Parts: sequence; structure tokens; C-alpha cells
Amino acid sequence: MFRLETDRALIQAFRPRDRRVIEMPKGVSFPYFVRDYLAWTETSGARVYLVFAASGSVRPIGIIFRRDSLGGERMASMCEWCHTYGASEVGLLTTDVNSKRRVGVSLCADLRCKDRLEDAADRAGRHPGEMLAELRARMSRFAQEVLGIKVESSSSVELSGDRN
Ligand SMILES: [Zn+2]
Repeated sequence: MFRLETDRALIQAFRPRDRRVIEMPKGVSFPYFVRDYLAWTETSGARVYLVFAASGSVRPIGIIFRRDSLGGERMASMCEWCHTYGASEVGLLTTDVNSKRRVGVSLCADLRCKDRLEDAADRAGRHPGEMLAELRARMSRFAQEVLGIKVESSSSVELSGDRN
């Protein structure tokens, strides 16, 4: 769980290149407590936003995914984060690694992986805690290994780029 004090803190979670084009989530007032992660889809449907914190960290990490490959006839595929399988729910989301390179990853198009894991846990009579921890670990690995975002523990938080 982590807390976003202000809308500015939410924007600061994203990489500098993403910060000018953020559509804020609806129904969120600050300070805002995030239990697992926060995901919302742009009104246009073109992009989906993710804000989460790695386990042991209170520093939020924001990623913006494009959904331009969605629509039309789609093949069923599996979400790499929650393992939901389907054609309507799961699609290829892309995000910038840097100005020259984009990566695509097969994920729930609305990033509601958490809801689907909780449903699956309910049906199996399991506690969702462990599955949600795995979900956060997969998000962290993606941020760190694919996008090269530093996933810091709370002890080494350095708010670079937070100067006025
Ligand atoms: Zn998913």
C-alpha cells in the first residue's frame, strides 16, 4: 500500500517523457491510498495508465501503455501478469523504452488483472494475497528489466527531478 499525497505526486510517478500527456483518473481525490495498484483508461480508450509500488517500496512507478493494436479481429492471448486468457479482455499493449524503442506485452487491455485474480481466488477458495503479491512482482520485473526503471526500496528513495 502506498499513498499519493497530491495530483503532482501522481504525475511525478511517471517518467519525465510521459508527464505532459497525462489524463488524470476520475473519482480520485488526494491524498489517495492505493492498496495494490491504480489503473485507469483514457476517455478516448487509446491509452491505459498504471501506477504501482514495488513490494517494500513506497515510491510509486507510473507506466503509460498504448492500445493502438486493439480493435478489429483479435486472436485470443494470455495476460502475462495475471494469466487471464481471452480475445476481448487481453491484447497487445505497447510502451516506450526510450525515444527509439517501444516494446509490446500481452496484458489485460484494461489492466484489471487484480479483479480477475481476486475472482479466481474466490472461486478456488484461496486467499488472493499471495496472487496479488506475485502480480506486483511481475509489474516490478517488467518496469525494471524491460523498461530499465529503477525499482528502489523505501530506504533508498531519492526524489530526483522533484526540484522546483
Ligand atoms: Zn491481466
